[in-house]
Amino acid sequence: MKAVVCENTKLDVADVPDPVPDKGQLLIKVQRAGICGSDLHARHSCDVVADIVGEMGYPDFMRSNQSVVMGHEFVGEVIGHGPDTRKQAKVGDRVVALPLIRRGSDMHTVGFSVHAPGAYAEQMVVEESLAMTVPEGMPTELAALTEPMAVGLHAVRRGEVKKGDVAIVIGCGPVGLAVISMLKASGVKTVVASDFSPGRRDLARRCGADVVVDPKHEAPFAAAGDRGHIQTAPAAFGLAMGAIDRLRGVPYLPWQQVWRAAEKVGAATPKRPVIFECVGVPGMLEQVISSAPLFSRVVVVGVCMDPDRLRPAVAINKEIDMRFVLGYTPPEFHETLHLLARGKVDAAPIITGSVGLPGVDNAFTALGDPEVHAKILVDPQSDATEPVAVSL
Ligand SMILES: [Zn+2]
Repeated sequence: MKAVVCENTKLDVADVPDPVPDKGQLLIKVQRAGICGSDLHARHSCDVVADIVGEMGYPDFMRSNQSVVMGHEFVGEVIGHGPDTRKQAKVGDRVVALPLIRRGSDMHTVGFSVHAPGAYAEQMVVEESLAMTVPEGMPTELAALTEPMAVGLHAVRRGEVKKGDVAIVIGCGPVGLAVISMLKASGVKTVVASDFSPGRRDLARRCGADVVVDPKHEAPFAAAGDRGHIQTAPAAFGLAMGAIDRLRGVPYLPWQQVWRAAEKVGAATPKRPVIFECVGVPGMLEQVISSAPLFSRVVVVGVCMDPDRLRPAVAINKEIDMRFVLGYTPPEFHETLHLLARGKVDAAPIITGSVGLPGVDNAFTALGDPEVHAKILVDPQSDATEPVAVSL
């Protein structure tokens, strides 16, 4: 079969052996595969990632001198079953799957390992237990967004955003756009989006952002107006002093108990925004920490591959609550598929083009320009060498 092979930063269409489903695996004909920022990064710097993941006990992440088929966001049609499969998904059914696969007793990351070829190919194998049937009537292109949109849902969950909170999304690439769409699908009323690119700001608006700012002219943290967020140390001292003065002025009630009761229902928690950092370049975390209101929660979704500097003392003085997030759980993946299928989340604007296997190299280049593209889908049946428009 034909596949796009990445070796020494080059992407070429090549003839590779047909994949064979092992025990508990499905063989699928790839219908669409999304190109992800991680792919762009892995193409040039997979050795850096391989070292990091190696530190965590996974030695088989792709290396630049290997010949690897990438693609971990995909939808395909079942065309065969390996031994010992339950066959809930039948031949002809469309499925999406989490990008993990077994090889004997080892597990591998699909599309990022020489042992687990990905979706920039005519066919691939997936783990049956991680595959989910695409609901009838759902556009195939939208199903291909399940994986990247699940990343957004997971980030929103980990951010524990309440509907009344102000959510601020820094960076409106595919990850930021997924977060924006999922925040709106979760009922968060005020979503502020910030990006230097006019094209990306437009996509943010179309994904549902309520306030969109150009950080060159306006700070995203002030864009939603005064929401009672605490901006200075004296304001934080004042909040505590004011509260205790009021409580100690109430006779007969032990102030500590009242305070603790208020804490239990969240009434003693200072108002703070939930900030999603979706850029992932050196200096971003320091910038967020130094400009965000006190007590902000910062959810780090953008992957900064380089060592970075930040001032912990500033973060401590502001009691910044920082959380790093990765991937999603199988239930989040399933929920995302069905949110997309039922039209509960608007992700269609994220798809900006489609190419065939011979166009993957050009698509990677095109994705370098934020003005034009966000998510390009690969259609192995197409022979488009340049991204063409997708109508949904
Ligand atoms: Zn991805």
